[in-house]
Amino acid sequence: MLQTLYQVPEYKEELIYPAVCKMMEGLGIAQDIRPGLKVAIKPNLVMAKSPAYPVTTHPFVIKAVARWLREQGVEDIVLAESSGGLYNSEYMKNVYHVCGLRQLEPEVKLNMDFSAKTVNCPGGFSNHSFHIITPILEADYVINICKLKTHAMTGYSGGIKNLFGTIPGLEKPQMHYRWPDIQDFSRMLLELAQTVNPQLTVIDAIDAMEGNGPTGGSSHPLGLLLGARDFYTQDYFAAGLMGLDPMKIEMIRQAVEKGLAKPDEIELTGDPVPENLTPFQLPDTHKLDFTGAFPKFLQKPVAFLGGKLFKSYPQLNRELCVGCGKCAESCPAHIIKIENKKAKFRRKGCISCFCCQEMCPMKAISVKKAL
Ligand code: SF4
Ligand code: SF4
Repeated sequence: MLQTLYQVPEYKEELIYPAVCKMMEGLGIAQDIRPGLKVAIKPNLVMAKSPAYPVTTHPFVIKAVARWLREQGVEDIVLAESSGGLYNSEYMKNVYHVCGLRQLEPEVKLNMDFSAKTVNCPGGFSNHSFHIITPILEADYVINICKLKTHAMTGYSGGIKNLFGTIPGLEKPQMHYRWPDIQDFSRMLLELAQTVNPQLTVIDAIDAMEGNGPTGGSSHPLGLLLGARDFYTQDYFAAGLMGLDPMKIEMIRQAVEKGLAKPDEIELTGDPVPENLTPFQLPDTHKLDFTGAFPKFLQKPVAFLGGKLFKSYPQLNRELCVGCGKCAESCPAHIIKIENKKAKFRRKGCISCFCCQEMCPMKAISVKKAL
């Protein structure tokens, strides 16, 4: 598996574009591309947040990929994403604006088709199909451009996790509700990844996120741009760069087990891995997870027996809460209400998915153990 890595110390177009050109050459992407091709770029636009924060894919990275595509004669390029929250014109216009993506027009079309279609997922474990946003399904070629981050629920967010944004709007929290267990949820993510199956995945790790990702963490710059055709193995590699044990990230562990990720076959090309990398801070949900201290065969029973005592719950900082309701909108269990301009959580029914924490723009939600 060919893994490209380029050192790009900051978000400057004159640094990013040459790195993207070398990446495309290194991976032989020009062989796939022809004029007339319909290309969808799938960024990470989890919420409306300025590119000054390491929450969303930086517009300069998307711009560089689009510029390279246009130089190959590709004119039909669409940016296709369903953020956390609603999937409609008003919501996405605000996301495009705040995330600094208007500068991509008119070369890149910012998707305004909010339909979705059902596609079969042969071998799906409980659901044999996925409902996926139309521009992704209509594209001849999908380029996944994700942001490197820690993640409260999955531990890590890179290429595989980014594809969850191909599920329209508030169907995403419903899928959390349907598969609250991390093993089932990770399995679903891998089946979705196999269904979307992007041809190229670029990881924006020029600035990355540590701590309470994917939205409430802090900056941990790596100064790196990664690219590979095999996004499963690339996630294994990128998690290692963050100082995480990839085999403790359930979706990556399952990808290795299924033979999708092949860590023994990584062939690195481009720049060397920087020597001064420091480990990323974990999300609070993972810092508080004591089950890893037990041998693997005991972890599930311990987690089960620990039950409610050791379960993590969201905790509100009332002073930071502005009562915007984004947490309530994204809660799949419908246990959050807005009362007197503050969020109010009911603990009963909480599945500890932390969609509420992910969507809170004020970082007003932290993690608490019942005990
Ligand atoms: S907790 Fe956050 S998302 Fe929820 S209402 Fe308060 S500020 Fe908004
Ligand atoms: S309260 Fe938060 S963690 Fe609990 S189910 Fe709702 S969104 Fe998930």
